[in-house]
Amino acid sequence: MSISAYYAKIKNMWDQLSTFAKPHMAKCKGCTCGVVAKEKKEKRLCQLLIGLNETYGVVRSNILCKDPLPSLSHACALLTTSGSKPWEISTF
Ligand SMILES: [Zn+2]
Repeated sequence: MSISAYYAKIKNMWDQLSTFAKPHMAKCKGCTCGVVAKEKKEKRLCQLLIGLNETYGVVRSNILCKDPLPSLSHACALLTTSGSKPWEISTF
């Protein structure tokens, strides 16, 4: 599976998850505090990494150790440059 196909697949899942942020968005008037945006970003990054095959174990830990966590596009760039193997997705 290519990175773009994989990305499209989990993006669909994220769209469904975004409904959970709605109560806070209503309370915070569209969320001016940034909590929802930050949580969403970190959740997405974790899901992206969790879905990966174990061959990405090392680069996955490297990404998760970063503080602050890299953006999704940065993480994807790190993953695609990390190994010679094509993307292998196990489960998610
Ligand atoms: Zn907020």
